[in-house]
Amino acid sequence: MTQKHSSWTRRAFLKASCAAGAASAVSLKNFPAFASDEAVVVPTRPFGKTGIEVPILGFGTSLHVAFSQLLLKQAVKWGVTYWDTANTYMGGNSEKAIGKYFAKYPEDRKKVFLVTKSHAWTTRGLTRDLNLSLERMQTDYIDLYFTHGVWSVDELDAKTKRWAQNAKAEGKIRFFGFSTHSNMEECLLGAAGLGWIDGIMMTYNYRLMHSDDMRRAVDACFKAGIGLTAMKTQGGGQVRTDTATELELAGRFLQKGFTDGQAKLKAVWQNPQIASSCSEMPNMTLLMSNVAAALDKTELTARDIQLLRKYARETHSDYCAGCSDICESAVATEVPIGDVMRYLMYARSYGNHQKAGERFQKIPQKIREQMIHIDYTPAEQKCPRKIAIGRRIRTAIKELS
Ligand code: SF4
Repeated sequence: MTQKHSSWTRRAFLKASCAAGAASAVSLKNFPAFASDEAVVVPTRPFGKTGIEVPILGFGTSLHVAFSQLLLKQAVKWGVTYWDTANTYMGGNSEKAIGKYFAKYPEDRKKVFLVTKSHAWTTRGLTRDLNLSLERMQTDYIDLYFTHGVWSVDELDAKTKRWAQNAKAEGKIRFFGFSTHSNMEECLLGAAGLGWIDGIMMTYNYRLMHSDDMRRAVDACFKAGIGLTAMKTQGGGQVRTDTATELELAGRFLQKGFTDGQAKLKAVWQNPQIASSCSEMPNMTLLMSNVAAALDKTELTARDIQLLRKYARETHSDYCAGCSDICESAVATEVPIGDVMRYLMYARSYGNHQKAGERFQKIPQKIREQMIHIDYTPAEQKCPRKIAIGRRIRTAIKELS
């Protein structure tokens, strides 16, 4: 695997997870099983050319061992059988929670499309991490194995390809791919030309999905038979009710019986090229809310989409699009600007201060100390969203240190 940047910029310190799920309101009308014995199963789609059907709603699992078992059982019952985790989530406890579940319900292993990830940037590291994941999750194989937080497909070289082929031949993984929340469009386009990537999970939501670059990249992957999973589908936090657009948006969706969070999921699902979406669902309320959205057959209208796009435009500068190549190349010192923006989003938009702080602390101390002294003006001038990068970096240092 090519070490394009120094080891830390390979994102060895990253433990990013899926976007938080939809907002907490639940449309009970979508749960006929509550009133009858009718089965509730989330719809499925083909995952690229793998021949596998996956549910449109994937379970982003940052789980506690003790509190997760009922959630996982219910997820299987409702057909939320695409489980995404990583060897680093919850310090390894997320994989252990899944292992505990499979030990208790071994018959469910075959029902689940199991995805995990490694930050390793050497093949030796990948082997070590894969074996540990297998052991923790008490399984002989991973359905889809990701290298985590890819920044450029240059990181995926011939050695990685050979490693993936060998792991498949050994039966330890069925498919191989990567996750990305930086420079997603370039990563997708590059992957479409490689010919050996089976699946990709990327930041994708109502804010990003309409750009020409993203459309082209998704289309190229779809045509190349790469299964696509959207993460960070909420594109920041809940819609507020401060402006006329926000009020209209929230009111409009509530009238239809769903929340803005559920609407954001629907916006993603309306692109049939997206096989699944990965939502972090740490409790039953969110699981129910997202399952309700997946079962609800109501499509967003052109006006709904138009309103979401208007809202996205009006809050353009609140949301970092992950195009880190642009801002990070504008400052002389290597600073993971895009990552810091994302950690701030975890804290401020999703209220997950613990996760944000943990991620931030993984940035090497030397770099954290340098961050405060850097002039971010050139990066701000280049940022297409005109984000106040310097101010946000100072906020992150203050709030996440
Ligand atoms: S700060 Fe601006 S340039 Fe940097 S990743 Fe975010 S949106 Fe892109």
